[in-house]
Amino acid sequence: MLVQETQTTARSQAENDQIRLALRSRYDELSAEYEQAVLQSQVLRLVEVADTAGDDQADSGTKTAERDTAQSLLRTILDRRAQFEHALARLDEGTYGFCEGCAAPIPVERLEIFPSATSCVGCKQTRERRAA
Ligand SMILES: [Zn+2]
Repeated sequence: MLVQETQTTARSQAENDQIRLALRSRYDELSAEYEQAVLQSQVLRLVEVADTAGDDQADSGTKTAERDTAQSLLRTILDRRAQFEHALARLDEGTYGFCEGCAAPIPVERLEIFPSATSCVGCKQTRERRAA
């Protein structure tokens, strides 16, 4: 008797491996970016400490802005990396590719553009509207 393929959305092991590889490499890239950004922000801080003496107002304003930019860059990278980590965890659970909001399969085209997506466009928009 033939075993029927009941779950048409189920991915093969090879497909899962491929997705895992893609997610992992993006995760590693983000880790490298994060390290770079940390180094840069440390350099920024050192420069700041070195020439605090004799600063005028405009100068320290610029530095605060630079530091804020560096801080928000670090946050952005960490957020994105967390998304990939989350996507990898869902891949291991076998729930990757399904929306966290409504459990519907996330369109493949969306996953191709946003491999770390864990919700469909509709649920994402609803969540963002609620957060705003
Ligand atoms: Zn959804």
